Amino acid sequence: MSEIMEMIKARDPEQREFHQAVHEVLQSVQPVLERNPEYRQQGVLERIVEPERVITFRVVWMDDEDQVQVNRGYRVEMNSALGPYKGGLRFHPSVNLGIIKFLAFEQGFKNSLTTLAMGGGKGGSDFNPRGRSDAEVMRFCQAFMAELQRHIGPNTDIPAGDIGVGAREIGYLFGMYKKLRNEFTGVLTGKSLAWGGSLIRPEATGYGAVYFAAEMLATRDQTMEGKTCLVSGSGNVAQFTTEKINELGGRVVTLSDSTGYIYDEQGVDEGKLAFVKQLKNIRRGRISEYCDEYPDAVYVAVDPSRDFNPLWDHQAHCAFPCATENELNDRDAENMIKNGVDLVSEGANMPSTPGAVDRFVEHRLLYAPGKAANAGGVAVSGLEMAQNSMRLSWPREEVDERLKQIMKSIHKTCLDAGAEYGQPGNYVAGANIAGFVKVVNAMLDQGLV
Ligand code: NDP
Repeated sequence: MSEIMEMIKARDPEQREFHQAVHEVLQSVQPVLERNPEYRQQGVLERIVEPERVITFRVVWMDDEDQVQVNRGYRVEMNSALGPYKGGLRFHPSVNLGIIKFLAFEQGFKNSLTTLAMGGGKGGSDFNPRGRSDAEVMRFCQAFMAELQRHIGPNTDIPAGDIGVGAREIGYLFGMYKKLRNEFTGVLTGKSLAWGGSLIRPEATGYGAVYFAAEMLATRDQTMEGKTCLVSGSGNVAQFTTEKINELGGRVVTLSDSTGYIYDEQGVDEGKLAFVKQLKNIRRGRISEYCDEYPDAVYVAVDPSRDFNPLWDHQAHCAFPCATENELNDRDAENMIKNGVDLVSEGANMPSTPGAVDRFVEHRLLYAPGKAANAGGVAVSGLEMAQNSMRLSWPREEVDERLKQIMKSIHKTCLDAGAEYGQPGNYVAGANIAGFVKVVNAMLDQGLV
């Protein structure tokens, strides 16, 4: 393992998030490598950490002041052993190749857990949609797709949304793809319902993270009923996590964005959640405005250079980090444990630092890593692809039921794999091992390609 880590660090020293994601997986799969010496003989580790293809490109567009803007676009096609590349696009100023590679690497194992035939990929740009007009976002999306369209297709690589890419951006991206290629195909998921989208896709990641939490609680004869929950973020995943927690009888007391968080002792109920959806998705405002509407809640500004986040320092039973990577460190984890949190289900990708993960595992929390807990989003994207292929759309209840069954199956797969390799109840080991074994076996079947 150490040679592989040294190799990837020497090759790409600045890609810290990618190193972190690889380290976590390699650590978990040590017992698998010991039991299966052919994996090492066949060089699977060296192959699995190297993307099959990395595409970077210039995106040039004109802003509303007639100024030329230049951004960087990325698509990392990580692994196609299990199916066409599949994974979202992120538009955020922090995006760089290391972040996209970490996300693509994680995505491959996550997709493997869903039981659907999808490989791993991820893409995006350092474009910041915040404060941009609809017209600017459209011009950016069109310029981005003018290049990306050469590399993707419904049987090759099927992008979706992620941070900064929601229904509006998917619409502009799809429109440009259709125009340039003169074909109406399921090349993107997360499309609007009227033109090829799936019911439950917007809800899927958040709902899935709560279904997974309910499965974990059931192993201790508990339910979500009456549970106080800390949720971070206020975007797509946080909103639908909150909606499902409410439906199952829990109470969400926090939501956040990158500048701070709100604490609402009474809970973010259905009516308040409708306000948040309007605020974030339509008005594109800040979470601090929640307190103008609901003065009983408090807003706390959070300094990004902080060494802990007070959001995680409230009494609660469950935590759902749904904002971004490394948003929760070892100190936050200690605060959570001290405050009674005994379940963490990650809606975001890699939101917990390695130190935080160690605390959760040591204290035997019910801790679900993102690649298991947030796999519901890509799973329903897979269902959207199936519906597009059949030119049919399934009713809401049917997609929701399939999502529930997929989350149940991922939960069982993680528990079984953890137990098989001597780590019962460890969902990190279970998710990494089960995701890894399926991908590498497919790679071995397909030879040196
Ligand atoms: P959105 O863009 O809808 O929302 C992102 C939220 O996170 C916003 O509240 C945003 O605040 C906050 N945020 C973003 N960057 C930071 C930061 N550096 N520090 C603190 N807060 C931040 O994205 P999603 O809800 O789609 O994605 C959230 C997470 O879930 C990501 O980790 C994503 O990879 C993961 N995920 C998403 C899936 C999906 O289906 N959408 C599927 C699986 C995982 P602000 O408005 O201030 O930027």
